[in-house]
Amino acid sequence: MLNTRLSSIVRNYSRSMSTTVNNWIKPPYNWINGSRCEPVDTVGLFKNLEPRTGQVLATIPASGKLEVDRAVKCARAAFPSWSNLSGMERGRILTRAAQLLRENTEDLAILDVRDNGKPIWEARADMETVIACFEYYGGIAGSIVGHHVKLPSGSWGFASREPLGVVGGVGAWNYPLQTCSWKVAPALACGNTFVYKPSPLAPLAALVLAQILKEAGVPDGVYNVIQGEGETGALLSNHQDCDKLSFTGSVQTGVKIMEAGAKGIKNVTLELGGKSPLIVFDDANLKNAVKGALMANFLTQGEVCSNGTRIFVQSGIYQDFVKCFVDQAKKMKVGDPMNEDTTVGATISEDHAKKVLGYVSSAVSEGAKLECGGERVIVPGDCQDGWFLTPAVITQCNDQMKAVKEEIFGSVAAILKFDTEEEVISRANDTEFGLAGGVFTNDLTRAHRVVDKLQAGTTWINTFNLSPAELPFGGYKTSGIGRENGLAAIEHYTQYKTVYVEMNDVDCGPLWQD
Ligand code: NAD
Repeated sequence: MLNTRLSSIVRNYSRSMSTTVNNWIKPPYNWINGSRCEPVDTVGLFKNLEPRTGQVLATIPASGKLEVDRAVKCARAAFPSWSNLSGMERGRILTRAAQLLRENTEDLAILDVRDNGKPIWEARADMETVIACFEYYGGIAGSIVGHHVKLPSGSWGFASREPLGVVGGVGAWNYPLQTCSWKVAPALACGNTFVYKPSPLAPLAALVLAQILKEAGVPDGVYNVIQGEGETGALLSNHQDCDKLSFTGSVQTGVKIMEAGAKGIKNVTLELGGKSPLIVFDDANLKNAVKGALMANFLTQGEVCSNGTRIFVQSGIYQDFVKCFVDQAKKMKVGDPMNEDTTVGATISEDHAKKVLGYVSSAVSEGAKLECGGERVIVPGDCQDGWFLTPAVITQCNDQMKAVKEEIFGSVAAILKFDTEEEVISRANDTEFGLAGGVFTNDLTRAHRVVDKLQAGTTWINTFNLSPAELPFGGYKTSGIGRENGLAAIEHYTQYKTVYVEMNDVDCGPLWQD
């Protein structure tokens, strides 16, 4: 997700892999109580492959029950003093973290490229959203307040906002630092402490964030990182001393997180998958609509939850749109994500690349026309073992095809034709998901009418995939529960404590007999 205009990203043409980043990649990989450490027990080792090269970046022990317990205990021990700081003081620390993140932008972007495979200029843009997130919650931490109410007979009451306690966070791999920051910044601003388990496919950024937070003044134990796969994630989400679960990932895992939360009646936030519609009306500015559709499909190799992969185009503009979009898709430059002119980086893994290609084949076998892409490209040199795919565009598809119904999470855009506004709204909403949606039209009244009817947590008019720190992000239907970003996230990291202050003698009516 972006919060900035992409052309504003400074390109500094640094091609070096950076010694700082090489140091960050070294073991150990857990962070508990303020320092890197080896786990006290493990449930095996997993290999973190670098998508760009296909080579092992790190071999990481997966934390076991004792280690998860150690992390949660540290977070619990740190909770009283962290939650007792004033919001202003916590805000100052988060603001310092934002400054340090800015100073380290280039190295952090390189780390994200190595962890995820996305092009370097995109990784830099992602860092802007990470920094903005810490600036935003640093700025508002002192204003996370409740309210007071005047009651009859001079009495009064207030409802203060209290932190929830220890948050267990589990994340996906497509925006390694951003996913973690969107959870950690609001949680810490509200006075909670945190244990985070990143995705095993992109485990390093969350660890480096720990070092930056410590340098900014976050006390030991407030933010902890454990590594592992699903088993470790399940140990964390089932831990009885986690007060809240905050998850980003697939719907299938979201169900398991919710089941784990149900056992302890835990507060749960879920940021899950999507299959979002992007609607282009005949009167849209064609160039803008195509630019929006490119952003809605091909950023981060298409591995974006909110992507508008069902592109509904009205019949009058359909031919022109398909031609222009396909021309642009063919011009995209697949290559080493460290090169400044690369626009399509490496798919996260071989398995995932094969899954994406499988969707392309299934669409074709169901009768769709593959206009371009959907092939593996061998990028010579360092990157020859990475999985690089050309962006695929399919047309002549229908709403029931597997590639049109299911989330692919890769660069496969389906273009569907429509005639009327009523028809397209009904088709756009005919999905289990409700994460996002967008509309391109020059008719402002229609734009508002359409987004009003879209069953989606985030909608865009004449753009796509922008998500500033100040505005809530999250899904309707199976795309999730709760919101990240903006003031909305505060609701999910605090609980109210109500205090009634009686200013008169207690009036208990006939219960008291003189
Ligand atoms: P995933 O569900 O496979 O894994 C997500 C995380 O859950 C990983 O850290 C994994 O190790 C952990 N996990 C797996 N099984 C677990 C269990 N039983 N208990 C606890 N944790 C467990 O998803 P993924 O492949 O990492 O990410 C892709 C999905 O994430 C897509 O569906 C995408 O749309 C979604 N996503 C959503 C958002 C959003 O904000 N809505 C953002 C990014 C990604």
